[in-house]
Amino acid sequence: MKIAKNTVVSVNYKLSDAQNNLIEDGAQPMVYLHGGYENTLPKIEEELDGKEVGYASTLQIEPDDAFGDYDSNLVKVEDRKRLPEPIEVGMQFEGVAEGAEDEPVIFTVTDVADDKVVLDGNHPLAGMALRFELSVIDVRAATDEEIAHGHVHGAHGHHHGDDHPDIEDNEPGDHFRSQPLQ
Ligand SMILES: [Zn+2]
Repeated sequence: MKIAKNTVVSVNYKLSDAQNNLIEDGAQPMVYLHGGYENTLPKIEEELDGKEVGYASTLQIEPDDAFGDYDSNLVKVEDRKRLPEPIEVGMQFEGVAEGAEDEPVIFTVTDVADDKVVLDGNHPLAGMALRFELSVIDVRAATDEEIAHGHVHGAHGHHHGDDHPDIEDNEPGDHFRSQPLQ
């Protein structure tokens, strides 16, 4: 089966930066619904469209097509006592950025001092060119329910913990946000 709109694609991947430093070794394959559902980066969909199981490729994606440029305005220093303890580098909190109060931002703790904490609202991969080594291991037709929801169900896909399918985290790039990057 060829990769096309409304197929579910399983891809083994290794993610490095442009200097070949390993970022994620992809111990679990990425499984996504193909066809512009923003389950993965558009450049990856573009590369895999029309391909089949066994297709392998290395792809470099510039920041503009990945997680954007690094924005130093999204870095803020907070009083440590405003945050829960224990606190350590790599923890993430949802907050709001100045000037964009309606859109929640995930802040990552990047430094901890005695009384201050540095929070960075940039995506951990912002400002980086990303090199993906991709290898397609499975392609299947999506179910009607998956197409209606805009994401994959089952094994490595989305799990519904309750009867509220409308409440879902469907943000682009959440495959890469789910693992803290050290
Ligand atoms: Zn669903």
